[in-house]
Amino acid sequence: MHYDKTILVTGGAGFIGSNFLNMMVPRYPNYRFINLDALTYASNVEHVKVDSRENYTFVQGDIRNSEMLKALFSTEKPTHIIHFAAESHVDNSITGPTIFVETNVLGTQNLLEMARTHGIQRFHHVSTDEVYGSLALTDPKSTENAQIAPNSPYSASKASSDLLVRAYHHTYGMDTVITRASNNYGPHQHTEKLIPRFITNLLAGKHVPVYGTGENVRDWIHVSDHVEGIDAVFHHGNAGEVYNLGGGNEIQNISITKRLLLLAGRDESFIDYAPDRLGHDFRYALDTEKAKRDLGWSPKYNFDTGLTETFEYYRSHPQN
Ligand code: NAD
Repeated sequence: MHYDKTILVTGGAGFIGSNFLNMMVPRYPNYRFINLDALTYASNVEHVKVDSRENYTFVQGDIRNSEMLKALFSTEKPTHIIHFAAESHVDNSITGPTIFVETNVLGTQNLLEMARTHGIQRFHHVSTDEVYGSLALTDPKSTENAQIAPNSPYSASKASSDLLVRAYHHTYGMDTVITRASNNYGPHQHTEKLIPRFITNLLAGKHVPVYGTGENVRDWIHVSDHVEGIDAVFHHGNAGEVYNLGGGNEIQNISITKRLLLLAGRDESFIDYAPDRLGHDFRYALDTEKAKRDLGWSPKYNFDTGLTETFEYYRSHPQN
């Protein structure tokens, strides 16, 4: 069968990658999707429900391994790359930053080199609002032109990979796009992350650890709105550009915690205030006018509906 595109999706067994594949593999039967994932602790390949589709292939492999990538590119001949694979947990980056540089920076550079030497038609790099660093409550939301000012080893590694992608566009004329999303929530997220961790703790009758006073603000986007944004940018974004994909839901951590307590039928005695995370960024907020104006994308999910659905997902999938 002839396919219009062969898309190498890295990190497709992770939270966002699995949601992406489950939506896109059936939507685009004329594209072939190759899911390359190292299957780290953060992955769960059973979250990918498109195994039986002809236009889907899974390959276990590590983007840090350039020899493996060379073999993969010569056999599978991808034409496009959508790059999700990363170490993604800020707390882990504080206790062990090295693997964040190895995977997020060197792994991305390995892929960029493969893309450059194999004439990849588009390299879509999936990044984060955390590269803009921390905002005060009175600061305007970050636009795509905001200063890159990462504060954690995680966000510094993502920012470094963004800058390499930018450099490959400017130096080699590679067709690249970067999407920077805000905090995602929804099904398939590892329980190390705030929302699934709090839900599973509360369902098990355990307390939830809130950093500091819980006043830190994050802008939450449902994972399916993020995936729709990636689809829009991949197909219609301009080469060399960055697009912010935010949910427009700026919420304090303590407010999310209280909503989850309500959903779980628990009272505030279940909150344990924990010493603040080292270097904890106070607020992230994305200005998403560019994606709305240029691509007609906008997030659809109401946060309370999405949070209730997410709560029900983890209740009915105790093993996630
Ligand atoms: P995740 O941790 O759930 O999944 C990452 C996936 O990458 C896993 O399946 C893992 O096995 C794979 N992986 C890790 N190292 C690898 C390696 N060396 N080689 C091959 N595969 C490897 O992460 P996620 O939350 O799905 O995030 C996906 C991407 O989106 C990341 O680049 C992240 O920085 C970005 N992002 C995430 C969020 C969020 O809120 N989760 C927000 C904005 C951007």
